[in-house]
Amino acid sequence: MHTLRDRFGRRFSYLRLSVTDVCNFRCEYCLPNGYQGRPRGFLSVAEIRRLVTAFAQLGTFKVRLTGGEPSVRRDFLDIVRTVREVPGVQRLAMTTNAYRLERDAEALKASGMDAVNVSLDGLDATQFQRITGDRRFDRVMAGIDRALAVGIDRIKINTVLLKGLNDHQLGDFFEFVRTRPISLRFIELMRTGDNQAYFDRHHVGGELVRTQLDGAGWQPCAPGRGDGPAVEYAHPDYAGRIGIIAPYAPGFCEGCNRLRVTARGGLRLCLFGHGSADLRPLLARDDQLEALKTHIMSALFEKRPAHFLGQGDFGDTAHLASTGG
Ligand code: SF4
Repeated sequence: MHTLRDRFGRRFSYLRLSVTDVCNFRCEYCLPNGYQGRPRGFLSVAEIRRLVTAFAQLGTFKVRLTGGEPSVRRDFLDIVRTVREVPGVQRLAMTTNAYRLERDAEALKASGMDAVNVSLDGLDATQFQRITGDRRFDRVMAGIDRALAVGIDRIKINTVLLKGLNDHQLGDFFEFVRTRPISLRFIELMRTGDNQAYFDRHHVGGELVRTQLDGAGWQPCAPGRGDGPAVEYAHPDYAGRIGIIAPYAPGFCEGCNRLRVTARGGLRLCLFGHGSADLRPLLARDDQLEALKTHIMSALFEKRPAHFLGQGDFGDTAHLASTGG
């Protein structure tokens, strides 16, 4: 079996697949004016099956379904079942704003979803609405509890760390995992094409969280196989964990293990890269599988050693909804 490796010896076992760039929230740091695109032309279930089959045959064992908001797709459960059935896919995860998680949790579990990451930047309805432009805080919280109740294996919270908005509430976020077996990860706000002013106002480094964790007796945990970039911490008095995703930290890209495919079939070598390799012409028929695998491997040769955010190069990612974060 070939393995997806780049020129720097990094192995890519993790595919982040965006199934739509549509989102129904208006997060200030991403789509402050709401979705403005053309909500069509996304990969079909058959194209997704062919795509994931190729990646799995190249050694990818973890697939994350992202958006926009993936669950806005009416055929989302079909996609989940289809990806779950692809030989070689050992872990299936999704990232969601959880607006319909309470309703779908049981069906997701039954369809083979192993892990759910919920985007949640505020722990009260007012702040939630301020950041997301949406009023469904209670439904999101009920969705998290429902996902726990139906026994989805891994539930995580993604919280974008925002200066002047939630950086003074770290204690409340720590408290959130005292009794919940959930991993809550603070993510440094990332610069994208559309958010310069917001970034300048609200970016703060993950060091802020690390200092508080160290001061309160939290201990770093060893990363698991196929895990993403989060550094997680545990504490004997807490059922859950706290994590930090710090793209601005030195060495962040050394362990890069993920590739992204956009909702219209573009292979993105890096979240902060330029351009994408169009895979869609090779997703039309099953007999194109070998050509598709060759195309993916040759495209990977172009992957850069790291992002260049520190040099002001944030690639051509207009906003995170366009690539699935
Ligand atoms: S920024 Fe790019 S190179 Fe760095 S970890 Fe993320 S995807 Fe990999």
